[in-house]
Amino acid sequence: DAKGLGRAGYQFYAAQQSERARERVLLEGDLRRAIERGELELHYQPKVDMRTDRVVGAEALLRWHHAERGMVPPDRFIPVAEDTGLIIPIGEWVLRTACTAATHWNRTRRARGQEALKIAVNLSPRQFWSPHFVAMVRAVMHETGCRPEWIELEITESLLIDTRGQVSEILAELSRLGFTLAIDDFGTGYSALGYLTRFPISTLKIDRSFVNEVATHPARASLVRAIVAMGHSLQLELVAEGVETHEQVQVLREMGCQLAQGWLYGRPQARALFEAAHAPAELPVVTESAPSSQTD
Ligand code: C2E
Ligand code: MG
Ligand code: MG
Ligand code: MG
Repeated sequence: DAKGLGRAGYQFYAAQQSERARERVLLEGDLRRAIERGELELHYQPKVDMRTDRVVGAEALLRWHHAERGMVPPDRFIPVAEDTGLIIPIGEWVLRTACTAATHWNRTRRARGQEALKIAVNLSPRQFWSPHFVAMVRAVMHETGCRPEWIELEITESLLIDTRGQVSEILAELSRLGFTLAIDDFGTGYSALGYLTRFPISTLKIDRSFVNEVATHPARASLVRAIVAMGHSLQLELVAEGVETHEQVQVLREMGCQLAQGWLYGRPQARALFEAAHAPAELPVVTESAPSSQTD
């Protein structure tokens, strides 16, 4: 707050603010060109069943490799993309890229008799309000050959407390198409719990700030235990976000939370790395050939 800073303090504050505004304008221009320049990349963080340690899916997380600035973290550029509406084309690119990967991986896995991976894609509220959102989603599924049951759409609580009636219709339609819906960062939003039964939600992702302290702060643990119990009685799937220690796994498993994402199990990784670990293509058949067979 600028109040009570005094003249010098205020000038510093104002300078800081305009620096921030300038920064945003610069980022916006660059972000517009990021898709066509191929600077965006999706990384995939494994989602693991804590009882079996098996990878059951992944979350797609956006990365921006800026030509001069290097890696710009999503928490810096996603808000800019939302404010400017650029999240609409970027979000479409994210969905198409994730669906292309999911299709490829799940065809490979099917051929090997492995279960399909479910890939989670983050959606921002702004995308929902774009005029042809559901039509865009259907077109991308058609174009990539991806099946809706391979995709989980992550939304935030703020979307659900929006009073515009259309949210409900859009979520119902996505659910009818066969997508599952997850609430991201659960517990940090408005906690108007009524929405859990009003909308076709299947998954709660317990926010990292709760999971962080689940093994060290008894009050935090009680909260998570209550979330898990509520989730179970509503037949929701529970995912713990940001699991970093074995102690957290132990506590979460004991509570009955089944799924986890976090650095303990794997950081978000580039497509090729994730693929090599979880959906490797058949190795090419190596034919024996002596070096001398080269004729020239
Ligand atoms: P999110 O959807 O809640 O994603 C989880 C974040 O937690 C990711 O940060 C992930 O890298 C980080 N994380 C995972 N495990 C751990 C852990 O064990 N410890 C710690 N400290 N962090 C962990 P990231 O990739 O920086 O993304 C930040 C946020 O940006 C995401 O939060 C999401 O809200 C947004 N975002 C990322 N990609 C997209 C996208 O494609 N579209 C939209 N709309 N938002 C996105
Ligand atoms: Mg997410
Ligand atoms: Mg989250
Ligand atoms: Mg988030």
